[in-house]
Amino acid sequence: MDTSQDELTKAPATSVSRRKVLQTLTAITGAGGLSALSLSSEIPGLDPGLREALAKELQGESATGQTKLTGHLVFPGSPDYESARLGYARQFSTFPLVIVFCQNAQDVVNAINWCREHNVTFRARSGRHCLEGWSSVDGGVIIDVSNMKEIHVDTSAGVATVQTGLTQGEVVEALAKTGYTIPAGGEPKVGIAGVTLGGGIGLLARPLGLACDHLIGVEMVVPSDTGDVQIIQANEQNNADLLWASRGGGGGNFGIATSFTFKLASMPTVTFYDAKWDWRYLSELFSVWQNIAPSADDRLGSVFNPNSQINGIIESYGVFLGSENQLRHILQPMLEIGKPDVVIKTASYLDAFHFFSLGLSAFPARRNRDGTRLPGCWPQCRCQYMVPELGWCSGPDTNRSHSVLP
Ligand SMILES: Cc1cc2nc3c(=O)[nH]c(=O)nc-3n(C[C@H](O)[C@H](O)[C@H](O)COP(=O)(O)OP(=O)(O)OC[C@H]3O[C@@H](n4cnc5c(N)ncnc54)[C@H](O)[C@@H]3O)c2cc1C
Repeated sequence: MDTSQDELTKAPATSVSRRKVLQTLTAITGAGGLSALSLSSEIPGLDPGLREALAKELQGESATGQTKLTGHLVFPGSPDYESARLGYARQFSTFPLVIVFCQNAQDVVNAINWCREHNVTFRARSGRHCLEGWSSVDGGVIIDVSNMKEIHVDTSAGVATVQTGLTQGEVVEALAKTGYTIPAGGEPKVGIAGVTLGGGIGLLARPLGLACDHLIGVEMVVPSDTGDVQIIQANEQNNADLLWASRGGGGGNFGIATSFTFKLASMPTVTFYDAKWDWRYLSELFSVWQNIAPSADDRLGSVFNPNSQINGIIESYGVFLGSENQLRHILQPMLEIGKPDVVIKTASYLDAFHFFSLGLSAFPARRNRDGTRLPGCWPQCRCQYMVPELGWCSGPDTNRSHSVLP
């Protein structure tokens, strides 16, 4: 099944440049709104037909025979436009023609049809935490599902169906009320859409797997064979290839997901830890951590988080599905180094999730991230590079985060 986003849009990714959209914005601001734009005025690169179509959308009209955009629409010139256009990673400061906050799957269908009719590119968006800028676009349409937040838990079947506008924090909170959870990442505001479609790595990954391992059904808006757009279900019985691809194949690739069905895990009681050391122990700690964490008891999920020297703190934290004594025994080689500040508590996984979320939820946060997947431990030469690198950094917010995959 060919359901790629380019197939959906049938339009080049940069049909209107940022500069041209800025010119449009200037015109709009000056004129007091898109509807007031003189449709005969020349705005280079912005197709007059498209400008007219947008003006009609703003006035609540649509050209005969054409699809109308539905949902909550935010156009350039709206007071909400600035907050609606930006995501977590502020280096992707793009200027979409319109942001469509869909209220249901039909709004998604209409938005895609509208984009195809007007030959405009679009991007899917949910929690806005894309680190590569793939949910941002200049001069196109953002199809945003973040207002779609219904959740239905079937405790007798041990499954939950969640709309893709929920954040992973909202999903963990809602499931916890029923005694269940799914493994996902730790940042509460990351969208359940992006995290699941991209895999979903978190502190429960070693004992319980990734978020996508628990995905058993997807509702997705995709193109049909007739050139139209349709809402389909993917599960083990129907469109099983699409379900398979959605388990880590990445957001924005196969269509726009509007809901997920997850197989649930009972919410575990965990022992969690958070330990902080003075920066001077970095090299020794990292070497010990990476000799413990990847091969430790599978019930341990652990992160090693060295900050810059100017910050001065080295941190390791994690979650263990076992007792405090067992966890202390595993961590002993690390805890013997220096005089760490150590918190170890036994509590529900939800309490641990809250504990690790504190301080992480600022929006936007000032973090740059890169990722490296290593088949084994870092060789000593890489450690020798990391230590001076974190020593040179001028900002207290710079850090590196290392976690262990299952
Ligand atoms: C601070 C921070 C912490 C993170 N922590 C973790 C972590 O602990 N574990 C982990 O695994 N990952 C983590 N990530 C990575 C994160 O999971 C990905 O960046 C994820 O893609 C973000 O999803 P989103 O919905 O928030 O982002 P968005 O920017 O909305 O979307 C991300 C991608 O998915 C597409 N997309 C969005 N909605 C849909 C939809 N409904 N249907 C189809 N495609 C869609 C977008 O087009 C884009 O390509 C973290 C990222 C950040 C910034």
